[in-house]
Amino acid sequence: MVGAGVVGLSCGIRLLESGYPTRIVSRDVSPNTVSDIAAAWWYPFLAEPVEKTTRWSIETYNELLRLKREFQLDFITMRRGIEYLLEPCAPPKWSDGISHFRVLNQVEVIEGYKSGWEIEAPVIEMAHYLQWLMERFLVLGGDFRESFISSLSDVEGELVVNCTGLGARELCNDEEVVPVRGQIIYIEQDPGFGRFDQRPENLIYTIPRRDVTVLGGTAQKGDWHGEVRESDTKEILEKCSMLWPELDRSKIVGKAVGLRPSRSEVRLEADRSSDRMVIHNYGHGGAGVTLSWGCADEVVALVSRLK
Ligand SMILES: Cc1cc2nc3c(=O)[nH]c(=O)nc-3n(C[C@H](O)[C@H](O)[C@H](O)COP(=O)(O)OP(=O)(O)OC[C@H]3O[C@@H](n4cnc5c(N)ncnc54)[C@H](O)[C@@H]3O)c2cc1C
Repeated sequence: MVGAGVVGLSCGIRLLESGYPTRIVSRDVSPNTVSDIAAAWWYPFLAEPVEKTTRWSIETYNELLRLKREFQLDFITMRRGIEYLLEPCAPPKWSDGISHFRVLNQVEVIEGYKSGWEIEAPVIEMAHYLQWLMERFLVLGGDFRESFISSLSDVEGELVVNCTGLGARELCNDEEVVPVRGQIIYIEQDPGFGRFDQRPENLIYTIPRRDVTVLGGTAQKGDWHGEVRESDTKEILEKCSMLWPELDRSKIVGKAVGLRPSRSEVRLEADRSSDRMVIHNYGHGGAGVTLSWGCADEVVALVSRLK
């Protein structure tokens, strides 16, 4: 396997649990992956195709709750969040699959919006979660090597699973993979519940974690700038103050930037074009955490069909 972000580690664990000896080779590990920057709120954002991402996200929702229960993972918390909408629209297809979904009453809709809904979903603290995933992978007997791969044909093994995120652009010569730049701000203030406007062109979110609340955001397609931009900081704070007027700027404790691995559709398929089978699993956009376990299960299903 190649890649040790949330997508690769989840796949590695599932393959080991299914009895396949697995090695992960990766250039970066936590805390240096895009997955470390994820906020991370369960929500199928910026990932297609909808029919598949709906299924993968519900499977992941259930798995995150199971892991929390079974391994007492206190860095996964269930939080309420309200999404505000400019126009009333039908509930998303995933709404049936989660523990709490409610359309807002008109009196609950804030100025500037016409509608909205409240959901309850897992919030994952990625620094702890990625460390736990790696430990679990190793405890199950997984092998890990830190190395850069310039060609998939250099990877040893009967079968290769490619979870390289944005790296797939170069590794697979896949120009469909593009960065969607995300900048966030950390603040030590709890808004009580999350607030969201998930339109990519005007992305706003406040995601309460145990340690900090994550304020966002930006979704800048094709932007490779990996550093914080003060103009974005200013805009994020202005946008978040609209949804959360009590926001106290003196409690800001950090900022970060990550490049989401975006693609017109998540590429999850078996590729038989070379002498050895490759299963690609990349291009999860703004929802790699949200889709991780559903995709990992699909990878295992593909592997078992090929065996
Ligand atoms: C600001 C921000 C907020 C976000 N919030 C959320 C959220 O709330 N919820 C959510 O679900 N998602 C969120 N996301 C999206 C999420 O972070 C990504 O979808 C996810 O991290 C993708 O995971 P990945 O494992 O595919 O990629 P990565 O984490 O980038 O991992 C890719 C791995 O492949 C390795 N690799 C790449 N190329 C090579 C190579 N040639 N050789 C060896 N190794 C290689 C890398 O070193 C790395 O280990 C957010 C993203 C950003 C930027």
